[in-house]
Amino acid sequence: MITQVQETDYLYSIPKSFSTRAIHTAQHAEPIHGSVNVPIHLSTTYKQRGPGQPYSTFDYTRCGNPTRAALEECIADLENSKHCITFSSGCAAISCIINTCKNGEQIICCDDVYGGTQRYMRNFSVKNHGIEVLFVDITDPENVVKTITERTKIIWIETPTNPTLKIVDIAAVCKIAKENKILTVVDNTFATPYLQTPSNLGADISINSGTKYMGGHDDVVFGSLTCNDKELYDKLFFSAKSQGGCPSIFDCYLIMRSLKTLELRVKQATKNAYIFAKHLESNPLVQKVIYPGLPSHPQHELVRRQQRGGGAMISFYVKGGFEETSKLLKALKIFTLAESLGGVESLIEVPSVMTHGSIPVDVRNQLGITDNMVRVSIGIENVEDLINDMEEALKSTQ
Ligand SMILES: *Cc1c(COP(=O)(O)O)cnc(C)c1O
Repeated sequence: MITQVQETDYLYSIPKSFSTRAIHTAQHAEPIHGSVNVPIHLSTTYKQRGPGQPYSTFDYTRCGNPTRAALEECIADLENSKHCITFSSGCAAISCIINTCKNGEQIICCDDVYGGTQRYMRNFSVKNHGIEVLFVDITDPENVVKTITERTKIIWIETPTNPTLKIVDIAAVCKIAKENKILTVVDNTFATPYLQTPSNLGADISINSGTKYMGGHDDVVFGSLTCNDKELYDKLFFSAKSQGGCPSIFDCYLIMRSLKTLELRVKQATKNAYIFAKHLESNPLVQKVIYPGLPSHPQHELVRRQQRGGGAMISFYVKGGFEETSKLLKALKIFTLAESLGGVESLIEVPSVMTHGSIPVDVRNQLGITDNMVRVSIGIENVEDLINDMEEALKSTQ
């Protein structure tokens, strides 16, 4: 079993001082007792010196809190951005942005977008708010050019996509958007701020479901957005505080704690995923493997240009149908059959009946989300154990 690989095989570049920033940005020892960790400030309100004269900038926690402010400064730094707003979930960050659109305006959204984003757009933006949403395959940036009108307000990018792991050329799409004064949003959840920096590629807003890699231990639901433009930040902050989806302060503490090991975790998971995907590709019981970090991925060149590594999400097709796939899932001992991703433990799921079950079957088939497709989120366990577990379970599909 090949488990020895060169770091340059799975990591193409490394962001400067990532862990130093994750551990230290805005996390100075507190001045009264010298506590090394940022305290959990549970106060919802703040005493004022006189009417309209708060001690510092905080007056009410939905609008600002010292623990949350420290976390936001840190996330902004990791995304190479000036501003950050945090949320109770990734979906809260998503709706905060979408709700800045007005009746009659239009959103162009990548066709292979996260189910919750699609649900919000279809059921609220389109049905209730009179916003037009066009789901377009923007892996070809020419399709963006063809679709834009003077009403287009936002281009919504997610890359790598879920679960087919297609790659959108962020720089190319953002260039087209800029020429037309359209806002670009990148959902950076799958790549993480460690492997991809949308602001460097011209994106106006980067969002993360912190529930995934940022939290990394499957115990916090959380979201963030980052941007550089102050006017845009003010507009988004107004939307955020009005809608009220702010995170709990204890969750902010947990995310700050998890960010300190983001680099270590993502590096190890990416290394594991690369080795795992290579083994899977050579297994005769597997029909096809989709992994952005393998040369067999149709957009691997773009992955190397845009990302610092292939990430830790892999999709593959089992030889056979739903029956064989079910047998595989029953036989696995280390992989947990569950939705979600980005935690230290490896998870596996069948998108057609789980995460993507609500998508109409013809759309699913068109995207390649068939009943023998499985998606794995590779964790940081010993990779030989993961490979053995999968190889043994694959035998049971026969
Ligand atoms: C999970 C996820 C979201 C939504 O995040 P929640 O924290 O579950 O609300 C958004 N985008 C992507 C790509 C996700 O995987």
